[in-house]
Amino acid sequence: MSIGKVLLVGAGPGDASLITVKGLLAIREAQVIVHDRLVNLELIAQAPANCQIINVGKNSNHHPVPQEHINQILIDHALAGKNVVRLKGGDPYVFGRGGEEAECLAQHNIPFEIVPGISSSIGGLAYAGIPVTHRHFASSFHVVTGHMCQGNEPQNWNALAQLDGTLIVLMGMSRQEEICQRLIKGGKSPDTPAAAVMYASQQQQEMAKGTLSTLKDEIARKKIHAPALLVIGNVVNLSDVLAFTSHPIDINHEPLLQAI
Ligand code: SAH
Repeated sequence: MSIGKVLLVGAGPGDASLITVKGLLAIREAQVIVHDRLVNLELIAQAPANCQIINVGKNSNHHPVPQEHINQILIDHALAGKNVVRLKGGDPYVFGRGGEEAECLAQHNIPFEIVPGISSSIGGLAYAGIPVTHRHFASSFHVVTGHMCQGNEPQNWNALAQLDGTLIVLMGMSRQEEICQRLIKGGKSPDTPAAAVMYASQQQQEMAKGTLSTLKDEIARKKIHAPALLVIGNVVNLSDVLAFTSHPIDINHEPLLQAI
C-alpha cells in the first residue's frame, strides 16, 4: 500500500469563505481531517461523508492534545495510505506549531504540502478596518506572540516599544494589560492608538478601541476576550473610515466563483 500525503492547510481567519480554493478542494477530497479548535465548522462540513474527523483543539478545560500525539496521528494515518488534511486556523506557519509538524513529517519521509492561509494577523485586522501598513502611518508590521512559554517572557517588550511599525500580538489577551504597560515602560507613548479585535471576520466580530493606557477599560466595557488580536499603532485610527460590512459567500455554492 502506498503512503498517503499530509496537507497542512490554512483555514483562514474565521469566515469560512476566506479559505483558499486549494484548501477547500483538499477538504472535499480528504480521508482524514485533523483540526484545531479555532477552525470554522462550516469548513469541516465540506468533508466527504466517510471522512474521519479528529479534533485536536484544546478544550475548555485547557487539556490540549500533546504535540507529539498530534504528530503521531498525522504519521499513522499517512502510513495507512490516507490523504490527510491538517487544518489549522489562519496560516499554518504563523504560530500554531505548523513548522514543527512539517519537520516531523519530513523526518519520517511522509509526503506533505503546505496550503497557506490568510492569517488573522493581517486578514482579521483588515476585517476590522485596520490595514497593517499604510504609507503615512506604518512602514512595517510586527507579529508577535504574547503567550508565555514555560513561564518565560517571549518578547523583549522594550525593544518592541522602540519600533514605529504596527505591533500585532497574538495569544495576548490573558496578559493584555501587562503588555500595554510594558510597552509604555519601554518608551511608547501612552496615547498610542491600540485595539483588541475578537472573532475577526466572523459574525460575532467585536472590537475595543482606545490607547495603550485606556485599552484595558475598553476591553472590559466591551467584554472582549480570546480569541482576539491586539494591535498597537496609528493604523488603528483608520478603522473609523475603513470598517466595512462583508458580503457573505456560501461555500456550498456551485460554481463557487460565480458567487463573488
Ligand atoms: N495561525 C493563526 C494563529 C494561531 S495562534 C493565524 O495565522 O491566524 C492563535 C491566536 O490567533 C489567537 O489566540 C488569537 O490571538 C489569534 N486569532 C486567530 N483567529 C482569530 C480571529 N478570528 N479573531 C481574533 N483573533 C484570532
